[in-house]
Amino acid sequence: VLDLAGKRLVVVGGGKSGLAAARLAAKAGARVTINDKKSEAEASALVADARAIDVDVVLGGHPESLFAAADVIVLSPGVPSLAVVDAAEKRGAKVIPEVELAAHFLRGTLIGITGSNGKSTVTTLVGEMCAASGRPSFTGGNLGDALALAVGTEAAESKKGLVVAELSSFQLERIETMRCHIAACLNVTEDHLDRHGTFAAYAAAKGRIFLTQTTDDHAIVPAGDELCIALARAGAAKLHTFGGADGEVRVEDGVLVDTVSGLRFPVAKLRIRGLHNQANACAAALAARLAGVPREAIEDVLARFAGLPHRMVHVRDLDGVVYYDDSKATNVGATVAALDGLADLEGRVVLIAGGVDKGGSYAPVRERMERIGRALVLIGEAAPLISSAFEGSPIERIAATTIDDAVAKARAVARAGDAVLLAPACASFDMFRSYAHRGDEFARAVRALPEAI
Ligand code: ADP
Repeated sequence: VLDLAGKRLVVVGGGKSGLAAARLAAKAGARVTINDKKSEAEASALVADARAIDVDVVLGGHPESLFAAADVIVLSPGVPSLAVVDAAEKRGAKVIPEVELAAHFLRGTLIGITGSNGKSTVTTLVGEMCAASGRPSFTGGNLGDALALAVGTEAAESKKGLVVAELSSFQLERIETMRCHIAACLNVTEDHLDRHGTFAAYAAAKGRIFLTQTTDDHAIVPAGDELCIALARAGAAKLHTFGGADGEVRVEDGVLVDTVSGLRFPVAKLRIRGLHNQANACAAALAARLAGVPREAIEDVLARFAGLPHRMVHVRDLDGVVYYDDSKATNVGATVAALDGLADLEGRVVLIAGGVDKGGSYAPVRERMERIGRALVLIGEAAPLISSAFEGSPIERIAATTIDDAVAKARAVARAGDAVLLAPACASFDMFRSYAHRGDEFARAVRALPEAI
């Protein structure tokens, strides 16, 4: 149990989720201060909202004195690692992510989903399945609304409630007590090495999702994935696998089969494409069934779900060339999944990649491109690094400055029957506000291409 009575607690990050976390902590008896680097002028609404719940606000930076006096520090999602927080932790302050604080206030079933890729897709699928079951449900966490915003809703208050949370490695890295009744790790491939340091540290952060589970709980991992299986086995939950040849839920002769419930769903009826999305559908159907969602609700959502924006979205056909926006491919694993989805286009893929490097290897992209690629158009900071990973490769490399330049150069090199794919394998922050902004700008540039040159 988390005893916050009388504790000096600092919530870092004064967004919607920080405010919700502050409200929870105050309710639990803590003396709460919200801290944000924003200035007074930028955060006037926050100050008013905080005053309404009787919480202090410190703005304009992260003063050492505030953290030096804190007993507990709650980190909003999206808050970067801060030296003052690390120092306070060394001194003995407790540092907890907002999700763990929120989890203390949930009475229903908590379904947590992590992995390097597919989290948002699977979380949304499971969330919609839970909603379709008719029980009170909430979907959020690392996507959409922070978990603290679930508290107080029927989904959190009722024992029958279902709370579906997407959990990032940054959130999981620091959890100690947050227990997911159902926890899934979809895959672990290289990502965020810039922040976690090593692949082992990154995998271990994800694996924490299983360590707080009990023998009453369920762990979901890909069949045959030794790393994920080992992470799940380190916890106490019952192990369930999806996909592969012997997953509990898997694809057999073009039919998604739940070997326990008997559900059968032809994958041709799925609106999300690619083998990785078949795996996502299996994982979601398994998690939903373990949560008690009826078969019909699972089937309805599988038939209806059309995918999320910026994940392999068809933008335009022009001169026989198809343009796809997979801007959400912010790491090598996602880019590889996108390329694998185009595997029948031998020699006909023009890939636009680059941005902020995350410290992994681009070799898997090179290997795919040498099978199905025509050219690689490079943007952003990581361009030289990616180019060097293609040293000696027959794949043509083209440097571009802006997204419009990249689209124009991709068009110039593409021939009828080709696909132009934006799947950058990098973060977007050197040139864009977000992956969504990058994808929107790509789509705008593609739509602006004149009909004939
Ligand atoms: P996340 O929330 O983990 O980033 P998303 O569902 O938003 O996951 O997908 C991120 C990217 O990864 C997209 O480019 C998508 O096409 C790709 N992707 C989705 N599911 C998988 C998967 N199971 N394996 C590999 N790549 C995937």
